[in-house]
This record gives sequence, C-alpha cells and structure tokens, in this order.
Amino acid sequence: MEKKDNGFTRRDFIKGASFGVLTLSLGTLRFKGGEVFAQEPLKPYPYRTWEDLYKKQWTWDKVAKVTHPRNCWYQAHCSWDAFIKNGIIVREEQTADYPQTRPELSDFNPRGCQKGACYSARMYDPTRIKYPLKRVGERGEGKWKRLSWDEALTEIADTMIDIIAKEGPDTFLYDVGTNLSLGPQGLGLFRLCTLLDSGVLDCNPEIGDDHQGWAVTSGSMIGCGSADNWFYSDIVLIWAGNPSYTGMPYSHFLWEARYNGTRVIGISPDYNASVIHCDQWIPINIGTDAALAMGMAQVIVKEGLYNKEFIKEQTDMPFLVRDDTKQFLREKDLKENGRDDLFYIFDLKSQGIKEPPRATLTLGDLDPALEGSFEVETIQGKVKVRPAFEFLKDKLKDYSLDRVSQITGINPTIIESLARDIAKARTVTNVTNSCISKFYHGDLIERTQILVLALCGHFGKKGSGFNAFPMLIDDTNFRLAFAPPLPFKEALAAFEKSFAEQVKDLKQADYTDEMLSYEFGRRLEKTGITVSNTLFWYVHGGLNELSGRSKEWDKYLKRDVDEYVKESLEKGWQNVFPAPGKEPRILFECGGNVIRRVRGYTALLKTLWPKLHLIVTLDFRMGATGLHSDYVLPAAGYYEKDDFAGWVGPYQPFFQVTTRAVEPLHESKSEWEIHCLLAKKIQERAKQRNILTFKDKQGKERRFDNLYDILTYGRHYTEKDEEKVCRDSLALSPCFKGDWKHLKEKGWVKWEDIGKGFFGIGNATDIKPDEPIVPYTWHTDKKVPWPTLSRRMQFYIDQDFYLELGEELPIHKDPPISGGNYPLTVTGGHTRWSIHSMWRDEAHMLRLQRGQPVMYMSVADAQKRGIKDGEIVLVKNDIDSFEIMAKVAPAIRPGQVVIYHAWEQYQFKGHKLFQNLMPSPIKPTELAGGYFHLGPFFGQLSPGQSDRDTRVEVTRIA
Ligand code: SF4
Repeated sequence: MEKKDNGFTRRDFIKGASFGVLTLSLGTLRFKGGEVFAQEPLKPYPYRTWEDLYKKQWTWDKVAKVTHPRNCWYQAHCSWDAFIKNGIIVREEQTADYPQTRPELSDFNPRGCQKGACYSARMYDPTRIKYPLKRVGERGEGKWKRLSWDEALTEIADTMIDIIAKEGPDTFLYDVGTNLSLGPQGLGLFRLCTLLDSGVLDCNPEIGDDHQGWAVTSGSMIGCGSADNWFYSDIVLIWAGNPSYTGMPYSHFLWEARYNGTRVIGISPDYNASVIHCDQWIPINIGTDAALAMGMAQVIVKEGLYNKEFIKEQTDMPFLVRDDTKQFLREKDLKENGRDDLFYIFDLKSQGIKEPPRATLTLGDLDPALEGSFEVETIQGKVKVRPAFEFLKDKLKDYSLDRVSQITGINPTIIESLARDIAKARTVTNVTNSCISKFYHGDLIERTQILVLALCGHFGKKGSGFNAFPMLIDDTNFRLAFAPPLPFKEALAAFEKSFAEQVKDLKQADYTDEMLSYEFGRRLEKTGITVSNTLFWYVHGGLNELSGRSKEWDKYLKRDVDEYVKESLEKGWQNVFPAPGKEPRILFECGGNVIRRVRGYTALLKTLWPKLHLIVTLDFRMGATGLHSDYVLPAAGYYEKDDFAGWVGPYQPFFQVTTRAVEPLHESKSEWEIHCLLAKKIQERAKQRNILTFKDKQGKERRFDNLYDILTYGRHYTEKDEEKVCRDSLALSPCFKGDWKHLKEKGWVKWEDIGKGFFGIGNATDIKPDEPIVPYTWHTDKKVPWPTLSRRMQFYIDQDFYLELGEELPIHKDPPISGGNYPLTVTGGHTRWSIHSMWRDEAHMLRLQRGQPVMYMSVADAQKRGIKDGEIVLVKNDIDSFEIMAKVAPAIRPGQVVIYHAWEQYQFKGHKLFQNLMPSPIKPTELAGGYFHLGPFFGQLSPGQSDRDTRVEVTRIA
C-alpha cells in the first residue's frame, strides 16, 4: 500500500474519517482522526492545477448589464450581469436587485430563467451565423456561399431597387416576430419600411396572442396589472394559462399570495405544472370554458349577485336594443341624419328615454334601467326596445347547470359555488396569458370570462381586473420612425405637432387619449404600413386552401369564409397589401421565424415562396426561415450590441437594457447597423444606376438617392451610433426617469407612466411608485369612457357579422373539428425549455427533456392504441401527418394530446413540423370592421390563427 509522506495510507484516512464520524455521533468533541487532516488536508493530492481552473472561473475582466431583450413576452425581461474575460462571456448571473413595491409585498427577485442562464452557451454554439450567406442550391436545400458584406448588400440593394421601382413598394414586406425590439433594431427596421412605403407584417393575431375577446369588449387587447397586485386578490383564476412554464420570473407571486390568503384556482383540462400549486383544480373539457363562464353568469344573475352600479355605469348593459332588428337604438332611428354612435338608456327617475353622457361615464342624475321593455317612436314607426341586459338574461336561460355540466364535465355544485364565491369576493382577477386566443372560439371564451368579472364589478380595485395582453411600452422610437430627418428631440416634436394637427377634429369630437392613439394605429393599417399577417398568408400565401375551409369544420357557419373575407376587404373593414391581384416580391425576416411559426406553413412554401424574388433573413442563429432564404445576414447577439426591447409586461414594471458586453462575433453586425448600411447601399446603387426615384402607394414620387441621409436623420446618427440612438431616444421617454448612462450601469429602471403609445395606453391607469399596477382605473375612478363604440365595456356587438353568426352577446359554441373528425384534440402552449424557437435546439435545454420533439398523451389513450412511453408515433388528420415521440403522462386528459410549441422543422423526420396539419380556420367575426373600435391596428382586431381545436388520430409505428 502506498505510503504518503505524512505517514498515512488511504486506508488510514478512511479509518480516521470513520472514527471522526463515530466520535461526532457520540457527541464528543474529541475528533482524533480529523485533527491530523486539519493540519495538511490537501497534502495527499500532488496534482493541484484543477484548483486554479476552478478558482479562475471566478475572475473576470469586466461585468456588463445585459438582458435577452425581445424573446420572453409575458415574462419579459430580466436584468443580468454578464462576466467577461479575454473578450468572451464566461457566464451570466441574475442581477436580482429589484425593489419591493410595498413592505407587505414580495419583491421581484430574482428574475430570470434557465434559458437566460445559458444564453452565453447559445451565442457561441454551432447554430451561430458567422458571415453573410447566399443560397446556391434550391431554397431550403442548405447549400450556401460565403459573401462579403459589400457583395451581399450590393446584390440585395440592386434587387430591391429594381422591384420597388418597377412593381411598387407594396410588394416589399417585412415579417417581424417576438424577437423584435423597439430599440435601435426596431427603429432601423420601421424607418426603412416607412421611408420605402413598404409594409411590416403584423404577426400578433397570427401567433394567436391578440386577445380578441378583450379587444372587442374594451377597445384594445392591452390591459394588465403587476404580479404583486395578486397579493390583494381574494381569488386568482389561472384560467387557461400555465405561468409555471410561461412566467417563470414572476409566477412566484401567485404562490406567495396564497400566504396572504389569496385562493388560487386553476381551470384547465390537464393537470399542468401550475395547477399542481393551486388551492383548487377545476378540470374542464377542452374548449368549453365559455359554457362554464355562462353557467356562472347564469347563477350570478339568477341569484341577484351582480353589481348593479358597476354594470350600469361601466358597461353597455343598460343600452336599449331594438327587438325587431336586434340593433342598438341609435339617434339615426329617431331623427333624419341622426348619429350612428349615439345610444340611449331608459331612465328610471324620469321614466323616459335618455342619452347617457358621452364625455364621461358618470351618470349624474340618470338611473338607467337594466330590465323592462319599452316602446319608442322611431322614424320607421313604433318599436319595442329593451336594455341589453334583458337580452343577456334571455341568453343565460340556455345555460342551466345541468347543461353546462354536460358540456364542461364539471359537477353543477362546483360551478354554482365558484360563481357565488367570485360574486361575493372582494377582489378577483385572472391569469390567462395568451392561450385563449389560440382557440377558434377564443373571442367568445374571453368575452364570457370578462362578463363574469364585470357582472361582479371586479375592475379598478387593487387585486382585481381582467389581465389581457400585458404590455408597457415606450414607443418613442416607433414614433421616431415616422419623424422628419432632424436630431431626435426636434424630430419627435415635429412628428407630435403634425399628428396633433391631423387629429384636432377628433379631439373636439370627444376622442379620449386612448381613442386618438388607436386612431393613429388604424391609419397605419389603412395605408399599409402595418399589414395583417393572417390575411396576407390567406390572400398571397396559399393559406386560403386551409384556413379558408372553416365551414367544413365549424357547424355553425352558413357561408364559406371566403365570402366573409371578400366582403370585409371590399368594404374596407380589413386590408391587405399588396391588394389581391398583385403579387408580393420581397420578404425580409427580422426578429421572427415565419416558416417555423405559421400553422399550415407548407402552403407558404408551396404558394408564396415561388412568387418571391428575394427573401432575406437577419438573425444570429440559423432557424427554419433562414434555411429557406436567399440571403442570410448575421446579426449581433443580445450581448453584442446596445439595445432595449422598449416594452415589458406590467407583471414586472421594470425597463431593462442590454449593452455591448463584447464586440459582435465573427462578421455579425447589429440590426441598426445593417439597416443603415442597406439604406446607404440603396442610395449609392441608385445613384450609380441612375434609378433615383420610385412611386409610393399613393402614386407620389419618393427618392432612393437620399434614403440613407433621411434614415439617419440627416446623418445625425450613423451606422456606428447605436449607443447614441439609445441615449437620445431614451432621453425623450415619457415612461420613466433614467438616462442611458444610468441604465448602462444599473440595467433597469422602474416604469412610471404608461405613455401615450397605442400599446401601453390600454392599461388605462396611473402608475404610483408605492403601489402595484391596477389597470383600468382611468375608467373606474376617473370615469373616462372606454374606447369602444358605446364608450362602455361593450358586451353587445351589433355589427353585421356578429348578428349573422348569433354572437352579438357572449355565448358558448362547440369547438370546430379542425382538420377532420378525429378523436384527439391537440393543445399546446409555450414550453418550459425554450422561448419560441430560440433555445429549442440548445444542448443544455435538450438535456432537460427527451432531446427531441415529444407529444404528451394520456395513459388511457396510449393503452387503447398500444403505445408505450418513448415510442415514435404517427399523428395524422385530413391535412397531413408527422412523426413524433409519445410521452405517456397521467397529467393529460383522455382525448387530449399536448405538443409544446416552437420545435424547428429540422428536428422532425422529413422536416415535417407538427404545424403542417394545423389548418387554423379563420373565424368570420374576426374579419369585422366598420364599427368604430372593430377596425384593425397593429397587434389586434384582425383575423388570428388558431391551433387548439386541431383534431388528430395517433397510431403506433410498427
Ligand atoms: S430568457 Fe427571458 S425570462 Fe429568461 S432570463 Fe432571459 S429575459 Fe428573463
């Protein structure tokens, strides 16, 4: 046996250690063996260089503040320290210095997730795009040639000049995605598009994040409180969300609120990762949530538990509706040339029909009737009218507890007690994230959920309010994209002055700030600066062959969806650019991954791709869309540029920045620099080729040969000035106090104001420094009208399509059988191990799962089909098929299969991604328009895609 120079053998050591344990266990302090080793504990180990390796991990040259600024959506964003050594990020660590809002509330620390913790591995991994690439094989074949930046930009600029000059700028579209920032990245992109008069495709409804139900009811899809607001809730309903997966940095507030007495109730078909922490789980049949809500509304109304004052003041429930036409009684019914947007109530005090105030929600002396039937003399003769609440009561008769129980699978006593508990609670709020709007009837489901909360007045108080799309946004750069070529301060002032001039008539017509903001958005949509993605894919991308088949699967439809699309486009309710009949030619991808993202993407490859003469992707990693592009330009990663997302969800009210911790890797450049260089190249080539001008969509002449000068605000900011752009634009932000210097050192600043941008303003609240964010208080406390046609939360929608489909009020409709009559329904959601496709093929994240795409299925369904856990199965329906590994999980409901999203095509056999068989039928009510608030603007109120109703069969592959 080897003797060491201290005279001890390994056996002696073990004996000594055992003795030490023994003596300690005997409670004595005489630790004889340990005494010896304490003198020279490491002497037996001569090879000690490993210690250096370990110790040197904890040394660095500098630390920079970073975040992953654009990819996390509901959970966005978190401040991190990046540790840099020899020009390399060696690791990242959560900053974790966010403050508490109030002493009795939990704080926001530590924000972060496991994806962020390994971003530095992602940025250096082999998926990284190192230099400009040009396709040399067929699109998607994966054959590339390396180009210099100058070669790539010259070729791209020449093609753009030719196409835009010859076919018009509306043939050039930009697809953006969840990786889009409103920092320098977004500014460069939006400014290039506005100057070329081309369109930015609006992916939000197409993703299914558009909260159509809330937008129809409230006038915009936005509205949310902060996560610490849940501490004041008596009940939080996690109704169709899974924040343990999708809201890792803030979901702790939910579980901590329970210690403050909050009851957290999960309503979902499967026993998911969030439900396991809830006080109560209500398992519900897939897609039947509207029936549950209507059942509860029925109990609340029948038992008189509703909040009369609230619904009289804040909702359209007292507004009179004609029995004959089912339309609101309007001024135009009472007099020639009367207004279309002036409605009436029956005043119980004066016993007469009265016009409620328009400029405020305060009813003053009026006491509107919620019930009764009245006769009115109109210009067409006498008609019967009743308050909308009466019509609602009629509808609720269809929702007996027994019927609701049959539809939902929930016991009637549970429905009844839940309804009573919600009605009697002081404060109730919800967490849905963006699950609901991915259902075909998601608009109805959401409208019914909101109805339950509104009936009980759960708005405007701490701990209450419907949480819809969560967004606080500093949209300064979005406005600057339209501003004249001056330094930012002057440019913004000039833009604001010109916009104020354009809308001064509307202001005099009692438009609120919210209404004005949305008007700006609607004008952008009308002029094709923003374009509905879903309609674009439908008209130009071949998706009409799939999503146009709604009537086959939705038993309630009487007309083909194509008729609704044509009617909507003809009437100008919705728009698409280029207009039908003209082909798109150029598609740029920046911040998105359209080929991975779109349900039924195979149609795009078949129909749209051949029409496109130029497809360019700007990205830092090679994803499915890059693989199908003509050129791929390497963009800098999150830690390689100065940037900020410009938005967060109010769940966490902090604005974060990322900074250039290291120089852009390989030959990559920031998107700001790429857009400037592209504009510069277009300007240069236009001069060299003497193609100086083009006609915009209005037929007015614009110039190619000053594009760079204008884009850079009269060369006040060059391609190298990304930091200056950050500094000067943040100095103009109305949303917080914190200049770039402070943010660069600190990483974050607290949000102080919702601003006037058409995304953030929907929160309709004043942010108070020592209070959680409580949405909608402008309406409930300040009595500012809601931005809807009725100027109230509007549950009755008498727009033509709604009336035709019997959806003027919220109701339940059976889900469609999208894809054919098959026994299993696909659901999904954001995954725990990736945010969109960003980390889907990342080695660390794959190690935490099965390393390849999986589909969860119930034990019962697996047994019935002879499928064992881990086996590869074939999933099919009338549209297509694909293969995937089955994960048999007792948490899944029989009849349900779950595929969490964002796998890339190349992770499947034959590159057949699971979205190939999702037809995503269009719902006609989402094509509505011509109805004040029912008109599209960026992110909302245009048709969305759905995937949650897809039907499939699964078989074992022998
Ligand atoms: S990936 Fe998103 S949620 Fe995760 S740490 Fe980064 S910013 Fe936070």
